[in-house]
Amino acid sequence: MHHSTHDILAPVPGIARQIHSFHFGPRGAGKIYIQASLHADELPGMLVAWHLKQRLAELEARGLLRREIVLVPIANPVGLEQVLMDVPLGRFELQSGENFNRNFVDLSDPIGDQIEAHLNQDPAHNVALIREYLRRALDAHPTHTPLQSQRLTLQRLACDAEMVLDLHCDFDAVAHLYTTPEAWPQVEPLARYLGTQASLLATDSGGQSFDECFTLVWWQLQQRFGKQFPIPQGSFSVTVELRGQGDVNHPLAKQDCGAILDYLTHYGAIEGEAAQMPALLYPETPLAGVEPVATPLGGLLVFHVAPGQYLEAGQLIAEVIDPLSDRVTPVRNAQPGLLYARSLRRMATAGMVIAHVAGRQAYRSGYLLSP
Ligand SMILES: [Zn+2]
Repeated sequence: MHHSTHDILAPVPGIARQIHSFHFGPRGAGKIYIQASLHADELPGMLVAWHLKQRLAELEARGLLRREIVLVPIANPVGLEQVLMDVPLGRFELQSGENFNRNFVDLSDPIGDQIEAHLNQDPAHNVALIREYLRRALDAHPTHTPLQSQRLTLQRLACDAEMVLDLHCDFDAVAHLYTTPEAWPQVEPLARYLGTQASLLATDSGGQSFDECFTLVWWQLQQRFGKQFPIPQGSFSVTVELRGQGDVNHPLAKQDCGAILDYLTHYGAIEGEAAQMPALLYPETPLAGVEPVATPLGGLLVFHVAPGQYLEAGQLIAEVIDPLSDRVTPVRNAQPGLLYARSLRRMATAGMVIAHVAGRQAYRSGYLLSP
């Protein structure tokens, strides 16, 4: 195992922050990148990463790793220390208000310009070429703020990986994941091993999130050059939502760690017989079919359904109660589907999204993510 530290631009003198990466297995034989807690208040993945760290060290000692596996257990040291009046605030940077998991740099246009003259009919050559120019472009990209510096550090670490797993969680949720329709055939076994109950697919959800910054660069180069040159999908990535914020415990983390290792064995990154694959719990659905269910009025939020329940259209999800006027507002979903996540807040504000339902029919377009 090799441990590297990567300095992030300091906001002021006297403050130092680093990203720590742990590298297991042989270099140069393909790379898998796993990080946790990019939203710093989403900690189940950090515990899973800690379990992975021990298990990967064992597997490496036994000579069973066939790829380099890079593990970053703390992907967001900037957000991890943002605790305001006893409340952790790890989703948005306080300085800028920006979501930590948006606005990763998109370099597909300049990379396309640089590689155009060097592409040929050999797909392996084109993959290596694109990875090389992506690395160079990220190394040369300027950073002006600690947030940009943190994002670029993560992007550089993961840019040449064939597989990227970004471990998050929701507020109160069952396990689910986000990936692209193009990657779904490769990701489906992961969904089965993890037992995810929703698998939400979109090519471009509009936020330039960490997972999409890798798949989109290949997708965009395919759109631009795919008719003249063979350009494989050089990287696929998955945002894995390991249930809710409170689900930090050893039994679940060991189970998730085991599921990821089973998947990596099935994929061929770890030598050995892959464990039998369980059935998929719920079919994949378009991210554009997710209904963010909002309450029209504010009040005390009392749920009638829990994450993991399948809902018919028009089912009562919650009541919103005004204890002064005694007004009780029912909140219902319009589309049928699986309720996979709900809010942790119990005082709803008017217009607030209280739950997400994975429907099978795409009906939304444009920006598809939460703020
Ligand atoms: Zn997250």
